[in-house]
Amino acid sequence: MGLPHPLPPRGKGNIHLCFVRPSPFSIKRILLTHGHVDHFGAAGELQRRSGAKVLIHSEDLSKIKPAGEPADEIYLHNAGIPRDVMVGFGKADRMMDHFGGSIEKVKTIGGNETLEFEHFSLQLLHMPGHSSGHTVFYWPEKNLLLSGDIVLPTITTNPLAEYTMTPAGIKRSLSLGQMLDSLQQLAEMKIDLILPGHGSRIENPGELINSRIAFYRQRLEDTYSLLKSTGPQNPYRLALIYFKGRLKGFDILLAVNETLVNLDLLVYQGRAIEEQIDGVSVFGVV
Ligand SMILES: [Zn+2]
Repeated sequence: MGLPHPLPPRGKGNIHLCFVRPSPFSIKRILLTHGHVDHFGAAGELQRRSGAKVLIHSEDLSKIKPAGEPADEIYLHNAGIPRDVMVGFGKADRMMDHFGGSIEKVKTIGGNETLEFEHFSLQLLHMPGHSSGHTVFYWPEKNLLLSGDIVLPTITTNPLAEYTMTPAGIKRSLSLGQMLDSLQQLAEMKIDLILPGHGSRIENPGELINSRIAFYRQRLEDTYSLLKSTGPQNPYRLALIYFKGRLKGFDILLAVNETLVNLDLLVYQGRAIEEQIDGVSVFGVV
C-alpha cells in the first residue's frame, strides 16, 4: 500500500471518506449495489487510497464508466417525448457525471454468491428492477439486509427501463416485473433490519416491503384503467394525463419512465399491445 494520495477536488467523492473507520486504507473490498453514481461516486477514490477490489454485478458494469450514459434521443423519441421537452434532460446527466470518479479495476459478480469475511459471510443476491444488475447484501446470522435502492424508507423506488438496440429494434428490460419478483423474494426472507442506500434504517421491514408490492400492483391497474378509458397512447401522452400536467424538467423523464414500465408489464401480461408509429411506441389495451 502506498502513501496517501492528496485529497481530490471536492465533489469527487472525498466528502464521504472521513466517515470510513478505522481508515480508508484498511478496506479490502468495495461492494457496489448498483451502477448509479450516487452509489459508486467515491469508489474510485477509495480504491486509489486503499488498493481495495471493487465488485459490481456484470449487468451494471457499463454504468460505472466515467462518462455515464446520457439518455439517448432515439429512446426518448420512442417514448413519445417531443424534442423541445428533451432539452432539460442532458443537464441532469452531466451534473451526475461530475460526482463519479473513474474506477480502475473492477471485479464482476454474476448471480447469487457468498462472500467470506474474517468473522462472517455475506450473501450477494441479484435483485434487478431498479437497475438490471442491482444486488443486495444479506447477513443471515443477523437477519440484516443492505438493500441499496430496492427498498427505501420514505419513497417508492423507480423501476427503471433499460434499453438495448437489437436488429429487431429497441428492446427494454421488464423492469417492473423484475422489481415485483425481487420484492417478493425479499418478502419471503427473514429480515429484521434493512440498512437502505438512502435514509434511515428500516426495522421489521416486512410490512413496508408488502406495501411497496401493493403500490406497484395498484399503479399497474391504474395504468391499465387509464389506457382503457383514453384509447391508444404513447407513454409521454399517457404520463401527462396520469399526472394531470403537473410535470416539469427531469420529473417528466421519471414520469414517462414509470408509465412505460407499467405499459411494458401490461404487454407482457397480454393485457395491452404495442405498435410502432413513426418510431414512437403506441400502446392500447387488448
Ligand atoms: Zn439507484
